[in-house]
Amino acid sequence: MATKNNGESASTRNKTLRCRMCGQKNTVKSGYKNGEAKCGKCKLPLSDEFHKKFADLTKHDYVHPADSKALAALRAIPGIDSGLKRLLKVTGESAIRVTFMASAVKVTPKQCPDLHAKLQIACTTLGVDMPDMFIQQNPIVNAFTGGVDKPIIVLHSGLLERLNDEETLAVIAHEVGHIHAEHVLYLTAARLFEALANGALATVIPGSDIIKFLISAGINSALLAWARRAELSCDRAALLVTQDKHVVGKTMMKLAGGTLASKIDYDLFLEQARDFQKVYDEKVIDKFWADIINAGLSHPFPIWRVSEILNWVEKGEYEEVLQKA
Ligand SMILES: [Zn+2]
Ligand SMILES: [Zn+2]
Repeated sequence: MATKNNGESASTRNKTLRCRMCGQKNTVKSGYKNGEAKCGKCKLPLSDEFHKKFADLTKHDYVHPADSKALAALRAIPGIDSGLKRLLKVTGESAIRVTFMASAVKVTPKQCPDLHAKLQIACTTLGVDMPDMFIQQNPIVNAFTGGVDKPIIVLHSGLLERLNDEETLAVIAHEVGHIHAEHVLYLTAARLFEALANGALATVIPGSDIIKFLISAGINSALLAWARRAELSCDRAALLVTQDKHVVGKTMMKLAGGTLASKIDYDLFLEQARDFQKVYDEKVIDKFWADIINAGLSHPFPIWRVSEILNWVEKGEYEEVLQKA
């Protein structure tokens, strides 16, 4: 916390406030209140509240039990790791990278520096090496992480247009969470199967014999069922970075409400999430997975996701992880 006279100039009555998120020094009016001004570098609201960074966070500290359970079931399928690695070898990690290098804008300290700063915040908070991040022209409000050994994060332009700076950090943190939780190999394979299910890649993709093998082994459906549950873990990672459940909640509200988000009442949205929690039934949710896959939604059920986050906070588990920082 800045001391009262830290950097204060008698003539301008300004003071220096170091951004708790990215460390940048900012000049603010001495009577300034938390949240009134934004950091010049990361554009997040300035505050003298402490932001925790985790020294040795492991995925076991926060991964959702539904994620661990589905992942264990997935890994129990004989031949899965070698099959997926063979598949991704022929479909090519380098192809993913080249595609985005050729078609999307790469975020650097000079290109969209505030997004670069947000990526850095998410990586330093969770303890992850910085991946490359790209912005892709796409009206669908979404983001994803792909790759095998060198993951990349891609943010759609539609997402950046819709979300404010804190919500954008939440999404970037969610994606960095996929890297931290070691989801990337399976996630990339899941995306490939999704693209195949939607007919997007059927004619261009090599390795169709491997794909047939994986589908016949039931790997694709186990993979897609896991991928939805993996989202719950990464929403927790987003909360561990933003350290504000309402930022995660409002991000979900915008994902749920689309263009109407500005007219939606957040408190009523939360009430809906709590009502959902009361009638939650995993078996019923399970039945919906197939429909979701068919609808091509990669981050489904924002209400369910926000209810899961509220539940994690209310059970005190979030606070327990936070204490480790
Ligand atoms: Zn900052
Ligand atoms: Zn995700």
